[in-house]
Amino acid sequence: MEKKVERASDAQIIAAARAIAGAEYVISLTGAGLSVESGIPPFRGPGGLWTKYGEPPMNGYQIFLENPKKAWEDRIRRQNDELWGPLKVAQPNPGHRALADLEAMGVLRFLITQNVDDLHRQSGQNGLAEIHGNWRLVRCIDCGARFRAEDIRLDTLPPPCPKCEGLIKSDTVAFGEPIPRDVLGHCIEHAALADLVIVAGTSATVYPAAGFALEVKQRGGVLVEANLYESEITAICDFSLRGPTGEILPRLVAAISDIRRARYS
Ligand SMILES: [Zn+2]
Repeated sequence: MEKKVERASDAQIIAAARAIAGAEYVISLTGAGLSVESGIPPFRGPGGLWTKYGEPPMNGYQIFLENPKKAWEDRIRRQNDELWGPLKVAQPNPGHRALADLEAMGVLRFLITQNVDDLHRQSGQNGLAEIHGNWRLVRCIDCGARFRAEDIRLDTLPPPCPKCEGLIKSDTVAFGEPIPRDVLGHCIEHAALADLVIVAGTSATVYPAAGFALEVKQRGGVLVEANLYESEITAICDFSLRGPTGEILPRLVAAISDIRRARYS
């Protein structure tokens, strides 16, 4: 039997919207739950790719470095598997668009995502750190430059960096690979300024992403959670909004708009 999904009440949405509208510097942390509604399978949990096929090796980065040519051959071979197939056709859903709207309204200053699916970019989010990379990009591990994967010639594997001849790998961060320094720097900078974090579609247990939310909370900031189910951080959240993020986030944006309209009229 399917578990009945709880829905946040209007009163809960309005209370969280008031906190967001009154905050100085709002950031958001998003994860797989946000993109499930766009047809992207999660890695963990029921129906997750890793649950079905086992976790990838924990030393994936080491394996890449030992034999980059083979890693590239593997990458080319799996272009249509269960993860890549959905990634190619996925479109942003109302949850992604709500966060882009919040940015356009001047409410959301920065977004840290654990998702590699490119959907925040596609919905027009500008202040964005893709902490685990972006599947459409490749990155030079020597100079840090990023390129669209289709712009890189594959006649020699591994392909050399067009800028520095260095080693190119997928931008998605492998197990054992350090988070790229530029991305990490942006996260640290914005988390240090934040007084409220909207945690959407993630249980915020994967580090380092989770650490940014916890850091804000420890400094006396506010955590607003939007998630389908109760999660590991629900207990420390000031506002916990239950339901699909594609529904909760647009309701939140509508409530914030109402509050701001009332304030300025
Ligand atoms: Zn390079």
